[in-house]
Amino acid sequence: MTSEKIFNNTEVAFQLKNDSELERAYFLFKMISHQPLVRIGTAATNFALKANLPVEGLIRSTVFDHFCGGVNEEDCLPVIDKMFLKGVSSVLDYSVEGKETETQFDSALNKTIEIINFASTKKAMPIAVFKPTGFGRIDLYKKKGQGVKFTGQEQEEWDRVVARYNDACKLAKEKDVFILIDAEESWMQDASDDLVEDMMRRYNSDKPIVFNTLQTYRWDRLDYLKQLHERAKNEGYKLGMKIVRGAYMEKERERAEENGYPSPICESKMATDANFNKVLSYILDHLEDISLFIGTHNEESSYLAMQLMEEKSIVINDDRVWFGQLYGMSDHISFNLATVGYNVAKYVPFGPVKDVMPYLIRRAEENTSVAGQTNRELNLLKEEKKRRKI
Ligand SMILES: Cc1cc2nc3c(=O)[nH]c(=O)nc-3n(C[C@H](O)[C@H](O)[C@H](O)COP(=O)(O)OP(=O)(O)OC[C@H]3O[C@@H](n4cnc5c(N)ncnc54)[C@H](O)[C@@H]3O)c2cc1C
Repeated sequence: MTSEKIFNNTEVAFQLKNDSELERAYFLFKMISHQPLVRIGTAATNFALKANLPVEGLIRSTVFDHFCGGVNEEDCLPVIDKMFLKGVSSVLDYSVEGKETETQFDSALNKTIEIINFASTKKAMPIAVFKPTGFGRIDLYKKKGQGVKFTGQEQEEWDRVVARYNDACKLAKEKDVFILIDAEESWMQDASDDLVEDMMRRYNSDKPIVFNTLQTYRWDRLDYLKQLHERAKNEGYKLGMKIVRGAYMEKERERAEENGYPSPICESKMATDANFNKVLSYILDHLEDISLFIGTHNEESSYLAMQLMEEKSIVINDDRVWFGQLYGMSDHISFNLATVGYNVAKYVPFGPVKDVMPYLIRRAEENTSVAGQTNRELNLLKEEKKRRKI
């Protein structure tokens, strides 16, 4: 099956894009494949937004509409329904970042709760997600992770973070909606990992509902997973694991160098890839205890997952294995996998244009730095344009 290279089918990949959307995607990827352009564009956009220049319309009709479902949940509905008709589910992702106040954290929780409730009524949305720093300050996570004693006020603040995790995970359990918790910078991750472990202990007793995220660009993650697995087995609960390579590599390396500690990141792309494969394989070997969400745009990893599933006689639509990509990226993987019957869900980011800018900038930078992937995306779009004779 894997030798057929199903991801090359551009007709399936871009079936939801009309000709003008196809042209826009081509134009966009062409632009972001130029590093200097992304750098200038990012600086100019940040300046224009801060100066309240009327650029929102331009952003919306270009990057925003390509990578986001809309400004609010309702905007995303047509996208969710259209994708589900082709077998691809949606994970609505409220992508507002860089907020630091209690009111903002409460409003992120309320959004998450709204989404879980909404998801429980919609078959196309079996999964919800939140980001740790959406629910609390990064410095607080860092302090907690380092074991530094909190002041009375900080302890109260932390108790509110715990309560937010619990409110979201408890509701997810009640409504039978999987909940993924993203992973972020290593210096805040320990505290979030402990919290998520607690949530899994509470809510994953009969089946995995709560999923943590493993960033396999961190060389310590396989050991961490094995230890976590032991604890879960001993205490009698299941694990849910999203696996990704990791999005903050440059920041991680810079900080490690500045502060003189060993970098937590694998020494090369090859080492990260190998680590990803080992973690993937370990989980597929222990599906009875661990459910898996494979968040990747990497074709080799996706083919490997398909191959391992076949070798281990795991049926392709086993509810314990999901493939995931981001909206606006790697449709050739998502739609081709869904067409043959795998479980696939795309993160569909939404939020006010200004607030999702950090997310959009990360996507642009990622596509610039991972040159191979952008070229692949461009070549596929070019092929589909040729096939449609446009
Ligand atoms: C559904 C979904 C959910 C996601 N959730 C999260 C999340 O919660 N947290 C998070 O951090 N990211 C998340 N990501 C982003 C993810 O971590 C990657 O940045 C992105 O998917 C690119 O990796 P890739 O596997 O698709 O493929 P590739 O393009 O094959 O890999 C690129 C990645 O390889 C690693 N890499 C590149 N060069 C080197 C090098 N020289 N040395 C070591 N490693 C290197 C980096 O991690 C880089 O991002 C998510 C992605 C998806 C699709």
